[in-house]
Amino acid sequence: MKPCDLTQRQFLQSQCRYYNGESEPPRSLPEGCDLMWGYERNWVLWSLKNDPVMEQFQRMIEEFHLENKDGDKTPLTMKALLLNRYLHWSGAYAPIEEALKHFEKWYMDHYLIRSTNEERKAYASPIFGISRHRMGVDGKGVTTLVTFMGCPLKCRYCLNKQCHEDIYEEDGRTLRRGIQMLTPQQLYDIVKQDNIYFQATGGGICFGGGEPTLQAQFITAFARLCPKNWKITLETSLHCSFDTIRTLAPHVDEWIVDIKSMNADIYYRYTGTNSAVHQHLECAKKLLSPDKVTIKVPHIPDFTTEEDVRESIKELRELGFHNIVECNYTKQETRITK
Ligand code: SF4
Repeated sequence: MKPCDLTQRQFLQSQCRYYNGESEPPRSLPEGCDLMWGYERNWVLWSLKNDPVMEQFQRMIEEFHLENKDGDKTPLTMKALLLNRYLHWSGAYAPIEEALKHFEKWYMDHYLIRSTNEERKAYASPIFGISRHRMGVDGKGVTTLVTFMGCPLKCRYCLNKQCHEDIYEEDGRTLRRGIQMLTPQQLYDIVKQDNIYFQATGGGICFGGGEPTLQAQFITAFARLCPKNWKITLETSLHCSFDTIRTLAPHVDEWIVDIKSMNADIYYRYTGTNSAVHQHLECAKKLLSPDKVTIKVPHIPDFTTEEDVRESIKELRELGFHNIVECNYTKQETRITK
């Protein structure tokens, strides 16, 4: 194969979700996905040799106004191929508008649930904890807490000090003890053992850290993999951009926001970071239903007075947030200085 063909093939395969260059459907393929694997394989082969059938898919894109939604990056010729097969297998008995609606639902539920090969490669994230069978601490139901490395804040009494440490040993290759580098699919394969508990109690996965919004692409890809009725919760300081909140918004059911303090001076002294809390809350207000947001206002020894906490709560209510809880931090010097 010429180098340019190889590059083109790798590029096409990177966009597939099931086919990854194998000659036979691999054992790791989820049950019942052989057909999808075969369709993708054909799509790669036909694309590589500019097969005339690709023109038919191009025409379908225009005829049926096919488009991608919600960050989906599936090539439209692939989507047209899937539509072609869907209409073939469903017999196209329904009027076309109805069939297209049914197809979109099938496409979301049965095709998009798996990450692309590129996503699986790119979205491996460093995780330092997977804590199962938690009750009533991360919102409703039984939850598994997944904690990521990394946080932009440097809180004086940080409870998860290890999230600030280096991911790799000094050789730059070996993961430090206790850290796993997982893709969304690998995480899903681990946490799905508690599916029955999540389903029975309305629980699911709580992502914390560290700062989980740093891993927005990972969480989005994970949410597409897991059953729809798993609840996805984030425990976050919300120290992130408008775009990050917008990316996560459709996939997160509950946001538990530890706001530290609404007072910029206290925030800076406690976190070592300039406060942008008001901007972050404005973003949240625009993008999230207040019912999905719980804001924690901590009493921080040596940093906040009773009056400071009352003032933060008042400001939050004025901004339109009504799920507000107070909590107490324990004094323990852990700020990372590097
Ligand atoms: S927000 Fe603060 S407490 Fe939470 S992980 Fe980051 S530094 Fe630690």
